[in-house]
Amino acid sequence: MSTLALLGGKPAVTATGPHFEWPPIDDTTRAKVAAQLDTAISIPGRSGIVADLENGLQDYFGVRHAITTSSGTSALHAAYWAAGVRPGDEVIVPAWTFHATASPLFSLRAVPVLCETGPDGNIDPNRIEELVTPRTRAIMVTHLWGRPADMAEVVKVASTHDLVVLEDGSHAHGASIAGQKTGTFGLASAFSLNGPKPLSGGEGGFVLTDDDDETYYRTIAFAHYNKRAKTEIPEGHPLARYAVTGAGLKLRIHPLAAALAHDQLHRLDGYLAGRAEIARYLARHLSGIPGLEITPMPEGVIPSWYGLTATYKPDELGGLPIEKFHQALIAEGATEFDRPGSTCPMNLLPLYQHPNLLFPGHPHSHRPYQAGDFPVAEHAHAHTIKLPVWHREQDLELAEQYIAAAIKISDHHKELL
Ligand SMILES: *Cc1c(COP(=O)(O)O)cnc(C)c1O
Repeated sequence: MSTLALLGGKPAVTATGPHFEWPPIDDTTRAKVAAQLDTAISIPGRSGIVADLENGLQDYFGVRHAITTSSGTSALHAAYWAAGVRPGDEVIVPAWTFHATASPLFSLRAVPVLCETGPDGNIDPNRIEELVTPRTRAIMVTHLWGRPADMAEVVKVASTHDLVVLEDGSHAHGASIAGQKTGTFGLASAFSLNGPKPLSGGEGGFVLTDDDDETYYRTIAFAHYNKRAKTEIPEGHPLARYAVTGAGLKLRIHPLAAALAHDQLHRLDGYLAGRAEIARYLARHLSGIPGLEITPMPEGVIPSWYGLTATYKPDELGGLPIEKFHQALIAEGATEFDRPGSTCPMNLLPLYQHPNLLFPGHPHSHRPYQAGDFPVAEHAHAHTIKLPVWHREQDLELAEQYIAAAIKISDHHKELL
């Protein structure tokens, strides 16, 4: 009998699951969320826990405005509108990201233009220029898995062509490049506060802008009609007369989610420091294993470690398919090893291939995407194995067992061929 668990052997990971839970919730968190029940469960203006969270985010990121929203998707939707993206405008987006980075553009009747990525999944700045047309309005980047994109190069291309820079920071709360936090490089950025994200309120999101107040007022008009628009948009501003209706959408965060996110915000830097320690340990011990190549981190960046990623190298394991390698990891009890599923190159998604059924007459129809359009992103996606990164010292033991599982499969791969 093989020692491999997939073939009937004893699993390498003995700890019972789940092995990774997020966000960390303790009695202080519970007390704060419970107290919110007695304070306010609906906050139509910028007050109470919503103001506390937004003030906290402004301090944390060092920006003038943070505007909370119901989700990251709605934050992105609002950010595009606030940045002045109009029907028919083109926005250059990384081909590989969670689709919500770009999909709200369809509702604005604007056109997502997919850009090839590097092997790490972040937008390839050298491939942006060839996509610029007279209709291009903005470049949106994602910091995939919390690894900061090359913002110096993105900003350079954008300024050459007078394009707006926007960031989707949904994987990258607290990440930075040479000391500057992701989410602060462009006109505006959008973040998710969804369940597993580095900063979590369970559900929710926010927009950041350091602009003069114009982008702020536009975000309010788009996402927070009526009371908040009435009190935040000054009399005399062209948007003030639209305060009751805004642009027709209400995208407000729930106060209980705001309370949870506010509690987590104070802990974020502690989480990230803990993750950095465990990521270093994991990377050191996983990198020598035949079949796995840890994705390199650029110099001078601090990631959020939303995921630690490796490229699977079947040639080093006699051609063993990634599906089999991953199955073997799961069988070993290393159940948090994951292959990216819905976060895939967007040219593989029906919305990007055939938008017309959902958006008849959409200007996107002249640019139908199909499989094979983005070989670098598609290869990277198909060969990525990722792991969430723990942040507590006591989780090092689990990390060790996960490393042992990977080594065991690599050592015994011939039995799986
Ligand atoms: C999660 C996520 C979103 C969407 O956020 P929600 O809060 O789930 O709406 C957008 N972009 C990226 C990169 C994400 O990971």
